[in-house]
Amino acid sequence: MSCGIKRIFAQNLIEMSTNRTFTMIKPDAVENGHIGGILDKITSAGFKIVAMKYTQLSKRDAQEFYAIHKERPFFGELVEFMTRGPIVAAILEKDNAVEDFRALIGATNPADAAEGTIRKMYATSIGENAVHGSDSDENAAIEGAFHFSGREIF
Ligand code: GDP
Repeated sequence: MSCGIKRIFAQNLIEMSTNRTFTMIKPDAVENGHIGGILDKITSAGFKIVAMKYTQLSKRDAQEFYAIHKERPFFGELVEFMTRGPIVAAILEKDNAVEDFRALIGATNPADAAEGTIRKMYATSIGENAVHGSDSDENAAIEGAFHFSGREIF
């Protein structure tokens, strides 16, 4: 690989990591008919959907996705919840995607979430909180790759 190509490749990786985040519309929001409302909030806030699928996590998927929480007392409940019905998984693109999307979804507990945020509007409890948003560029890349192959990302 020539030096120039290497530089372009590295630049693309940097751009990918800072401009993209990963989200899931969780089973509670799907059950309650909020897919359309949530996607409207996301696109109205300037996020471009670069990958999306309607799917359901297996128990093993959820245990792996949330492995960082495996010692927490709510881990079993979290896995049970995330596997009980379909979800919408998506990769979103925007400048400052991770931080801006965390602001759009609001605090983990909807009782603490700011007015107008997705969790304030659509979540019912700290566990059943309607949406996931990656908490770092590194996790956005890992979580996106967990759900999508390269040819499913546009
Ligand atoms: P997030 O980054 O805002 O999603 O929050 P965390 O990374 O702390 O937690 C991951 C997910 O675990 C949350 O979005 C909730 O679905 C769930 N969760 C967090 N805290 C609790 C809790 O106290 N009880 C239950 N049942 N679930 C929780």
